[in-house]
Amino acid sequence: MLKKIVQWLSKPVSKHFFLYVFILNLLSNYVDLHYDQSTFAYCCIFFLSALIAYIESAIFVILKASWLKKIYAIIVIAFHNILVICEYYLLLQFQMILNQDAIDILAETNPVEIENFIHTYFSPWLILSCVVLVILLNGAIYGIIRLVFYQKYQWIHLVFAFLGFCVLCLCGYNFIKFHNGMAIPQYTTLTRAGYAMYVMKGRELQIRQLEILCKNLEAKQTTEKPPTIIVVIGESASVYHSSLYGYEKPTNPLLSKYKADGSLFLFDNVVSLYDGTHGSMIADFSLDSLGVDYTNQPLFPACFKAVNYQTYMYDNQYFVGNGITFLTDQALSETMFDFRNTERYQYDEKMVDDIHVTDSVSLYVIHLWGQHYNYSQRFPKEFAKFKPDDYQQDLPIEQRQAMADYDNATLYNDFVLDKIIKKFQNQYCCLFYFSDHGEEVYELRDYMGHGNAAHSPNLNYQIRVPLMVWTSPSYFAENEELVAKMKEAEHYPICTDDIGHSIIDVAHITTKKFAPTRSFVNNKFNKNRHRIVLNSIDYDKVWVNKK
Ligand SMILES: [Zn+2]
Repeated sequence: MLKKIVQWLSKPVSKHFFLYVFILNLLSNYVDLHYDQSTFAYCCIFFLSALIAYIESAIFVILKASWLKKIYAIIVIAFHNILVICEYYLLLQFQMILNQDAIDILAETNPVEIENFIHTYFSPWLILSCVVLVILLNGAIYGIIRLVFYQKYQWIHLVFAFLGFCVLCLCGYNFIKFHNGMAIPQYTTLTRAGYAMYVMKGRELQIRQLEILCKNLEAKQTTEKPPTIIVVIGESASVYHSSLYGYEKPTNPLLSKYKADGSLFLFDNVVSLYDGTHGSMIADFSLDSLGVDYTNQPLFPACFKAVNYQTYMYDNQYFVGNGITFLTDQALSETMFDFRNTERYQYDEKMVDDIHVTDSVSLYVIHLWGQHYNYSQRFPKEFAKFKPDDYQQDLPIEQRQAMADYDNATLYNDFVLDKIIKKFQNQYCCLFYFSDHGEEVYELRDYMGHGNAAHSPNLNYQIRVPLMVWTSPSYFAENEELVAKMKEAEHYPICTDDIGHSIIDVAHITTKKFAPTRSFVNNKFNKNRHRIVLNSIDYDKVWVNKK
């Protein structure tokens, strides 16, 4: 009986067609290593490729008529060849792969842009080279199959496909439990592009709903003298690499001075809701709690616009018209901001130079490149103070180099923040700085980055974030009570989705959706709210004491 089942299940892998599409799948799927070189990624991609090839080959087996089999084989092989060409072309020409960014760009593209693109990047030589490459590639695959295809080793292919099924179950479980869409579906071209399209469709609906909500928002200001508010959102900044939070290397020499003179408040129990940029940014902007009702809650800048603040956003990552997100949609952006920059700056410092400080009461949201990988590209040469030799000598040189680069990027970030503070020194204002999420930099295992906190030996590295509030001299002098509350709140359990409420509280703005229990500068702040991070992990139950 068992033998019969195995024989039946082995039918798809007994065909040369299986090995053919398996190799093609491997070729396109392995481009993901551009982003993720972990052993886990190597294994997932290999076994998932086997599973997809198994399914494709099973359909081939089911088809009875030989002409139908031929047409099917041609379509599948041609489709995979196109995927291989697209993936490697994107990788070589634009250093990107067929992922969310690429799908967003495609969805936003108009016929004129397509024409310009073809004129710029396509030439008869390129097309000819592609045709020659496809012929050589398929010839090579055909040759390899004839060499290595042995009927008696078919069971290995069946095991590969079965392990692919196990990986798929694990991925599905992770996706449902942790909502971790940016890491898990990325291992194959098909799931990556499919997931990106699914996300894009959902986002469009959410954006339209938010646009109506923010446009019709009613808010009031309850002070005669409103302060200017500056909100600086960092990238991948780790508390474990900040000397302000106790790191042994002096990565925050400039901010330390504000800490010493008492104008900078440092919050040490703050976590982000998610471990990826987009999800975290939604949590930072929305007045929602724990990401459950995002489309029915206003975005905090819209509250400022509703009470006639001048609102500016300087962003080094999101640009209006570039992608489908709440920060790139023009109509939604206009419900929040009077001004958005259009230029991407290599270093954050240049963006800060371009910030135009006005005398009218304003909100400035500044979103930095911060310490996002690749770390070596985040700081100019003169900030390369830390060297690989400054780190534990038994670690591989690549890891020590990455750690030095990360610390240099942190040192540069300290310089950028100091520059922003100096720019607003003479204003009546209050500045908030926090990071979208944290970062692992080889402290726990052979891994650097973010986006898989749920599988980290210690999720604190990716989830804990720095949060600081700086008050200008004039603001500090006139707001004794509020400043005392900030000092008191330094050890409160805060989630980054509390920050929106706290910012509008500091600006004395009230709106129906404002909750005093969520503002850490308010007497009513709820210190007992359980912070459920990554959709399902009760941080305050499991992780809060494992720093
Ligand atoms: Zn990020």
